Formats: sequence, C-alpha cells, structure tokens
Amino acid sequence: MVTAIYPGSFDPVTRGHLDIIKRSSRMFDKVIVSVLINNSKNPLFTVEERAALLQSCCKDLANVEVRSFDGLTVNFAKANHATVMVRGLRAVTDFENEIQLAQTNHALMPGIETVFLATSIKWSYLSSTVVKEAAHYGSDVGKFVTPNVEAALKEKLEQGAL
Ligand code: ADP
Repeated sequence: MVTAIYPGSFDPVTRGHLDIIKRSSRMFDKVIVSVLINNSKNPLFTVEERAALLQSCCKDLANVEVRSFDGLTVNFAKANHATVMVRGLRAVTDFENEIQLAQTNHALMPGIETVFLATSIKWSYLSSTVVKEAAHYGSDVGKFVTPNVEAALKEKLEQGAL
C-alpha cells in the first residue's frame, strides 16, 4: 500500500492541479492532497475555502483525500504514513526550486521520495496566479478552473477581494 501526498497552496485549484491529482490517483493506492496552511504568499482563499473547493473537485476519486497541514511537509507526510511526495513540473523555471525542495526534503526525511509528474502540455502555462489575474480583469476562466472555483472567484471579485 503506497500513500502519496500532493502538497501545495492550491489558491485556487486549477485544471492543471486536477490533472496531476487524477494521474497520481492511478499510480498510488492513496493520494492525500495537502493544503498548506501557513502561507507567506498571502492567499486569496482561506485554507478552509481552498480545501472545500478541492474536496468537491475530487469527490469522484475514491482514493483521494483532501487535508490541510501546517509546518514541514515531510513531517505531515510521515505522520500520514506517506512515502511519496508528488510535485508537478511545468517548465524549466519550476525545476530550480523543485530540485532544491526535493533534495532538502530528502535530507530531512530519507524515507520519503519526491516524484515529479510532467505537466500535460495542455496545462503547462497554467498557474493559480494567472487564473487570479485573468479573473480580476473579468476574463472567462472556465477553461482553466472547474465551475465551483469559477463561482468562488466571481464571489471574491464582487467582494472586492480579488
Ligand atoms: P506551491 O505554492 O507549493 O507551488 P501550487 O498550488 O502553486 O503550490 O502548486 C502545487 C503543485 O502543483 C506544485 O508541484 C506545482 O508545480 C504543481 N502545479 C501547479 N500548476 C500546475 C499545472 N498547471 N499543471 C501541473 N502541475 C501544476
């Protein structure tokens, strides 16, 4: 039984993230999508909102769970008996940060392996940041996110938070 965690900010979840979640759910027995609580990036959505959006996006994937966590990702992985950490690689620009993160995590907790999934070409340009930018200027973001996320972005825009 191999449990993997897929950690991130998910502010908010995009179709690129969902592609990685679906593909990892076919590779591992259990996937815990792990939403980072302490975020220096000053998130648009609260951790509860980010987790709830993910939860409804993943409801049809029986072996996928959504949880939030605080502190070191490797500690959260160990506490949940996960031996794999999944990360998506979009482009060369992601590589430098990701390799450093993976090597640091390996030094901290050698029993946990980072597995990189190459992003599908279809979503390689997509990030939560560009989605928020497009939504801010009133663009249709239905191509990038699921309808529940689109509605949540619209609500933030109406509240003046986006
Ligand atoms: P973080 O703040 O940890 O980078 P993100 O929510 O931005 O969190 O991303 C979580 C993970 O999902 C990272 O591994 C990131 O590379 C990956 N990811 C982000 N956008 C995409 C995408 N469009 N396609 C595939 N993977 C992605």
